[in-house]
Amino acid sequence: MDPDKSQSPFLVLKIGGSLFSRKGHKRRVNQRAISAYARLIADLALAAPGRLALISGGGSFGHPVAKSLDPSDPFGALPLTEANFALKWIWTVALRKEKVLAVPFQLMSICAFNLEGLVFQSEVLRLAMEAGILPVLSGDCLIGPSGTLTILPSDKVPEIFVSMFSDPVRVVTLTDVPGIVKGGPRGSQTYRYIHPDAREAVYQDIWEGSAWDATRSMGGKLDALIEFARRDAECFILKGNMNLPSLRFLLESVDKWSSEILYTRIALADSPQVTNQEDRVSTASNIG
Ligand code: ADP
Ligand code: MG
Repeated sequence: MDPDKSQSPFLVLKIGGSLFSRKGHKRRVNQRAISAYARLIADLALAAPGRLALISGGGSFGHPVAKSLDPSDPFGALPLTEANFALKWIWTVALRKEKVLAVPFQLMSICAFNLEGLVFQSEVLRLAMEAGILPVLSGDCLIGPSGTLTILPSDKVPEIFVSMFSDPVRVVTLTDVPGIVKGGPRGSQTYRYIHPDAREAVYQDIWEGSAWDATRSMGGKLDALIEFARRDAECFILKGNMNLPSLRFLLESVDKWSSEILYTRIALADSPQVTNQEDRVSTASNIG
C-alpha cells in the first residue's frame, strides 16, 4: 500500500509530551489537552482514512521512567513499555470517544534493533491501516542484539513509516516551540527551511535540555528528522495548539498553508514560496 501520488502524502503526526503533560510530573496528563487533540486528530483521520499514524511523546509517562533506569542492567528499560502503553491507552480511549478506530501498538512486539539498526514487521500495521484503523504509537524499549533492551525514543518512531512506504511521507512534530529558534532561548526568529546537510550549523542553535528530558529535546528531534529528510521525507516542527479549529492543513502542500503558521521544514528540497533568504539554510557552507 504505497501512498497514491494523486493524494496527499501519508502523514505521521507526533504530539510532543510537552503539549499534554509536564515531564517532571509522574503519570499525570492534562486531560483537556488530550481530549482537544483527540478531536482534532479525529477530524484529520476523517480527511485521511488509513493514511495517518499518531505518535505520542512520552511526557510524564515516558521521561520519568527513562531517567530512573539503571544503565548497568541490560533489561532495566522494561518498565518503559508499560508506562508508554498506559499513555497510548489514554490516547486510545480519548480517540474512541471521538469515534476513531484507534488501536495502540506495543512497538516492542513488532520492532527490534539488530546490528544494523531498527527492524520491524510492518504487515500488521499495514493491514490495520488498510482497514481504516489509526495506529497509536509511542516510544518503547526494544529487544536489541544479545537481548539487551534499548530505548526507541518517540521522535525516532516515524522511521517505521519512512521505511514502509516507497513514496515520501510527511512527518509533523507538534511541540511547545514554533520550530527551531535561532540565537538561543530568547531568539525571535525560527529556521523556516533546513537542508539535511546543514545539520552541523543548526546544531549551534540547540540549547541544553532540561534535566528531566531523556531524549535531548530539540537535539533528538533534529537528529531524527534530518535522517528522515535524507530519505526524502518532508518533515515539519510546529507549535501545537489544541484550540486550532482544524489540523487538515497538514494534509495540504506547504505553499497552501496560511502565512500565519510558523514552522521549521526539513526536507531535501526547499519549497518555492519561501522568499526570506535569511530564513533559509540550504547547506552548511552558507552559514556565516
Ligand atoms: P516535546 O515534548 O515536544 O518532545 P521537547 O521538550 O523534547 O518537546 O523539545 C522542545 C524543546 O526543545 C523546547 O521547549 C526547547 O526548550 C528545546 N530547544 C532547544 N534548542 C531549541 C531551539 N534552537 N529551538 C527551539 N527549541 C529548542
Ligand atoms: Mg521530547
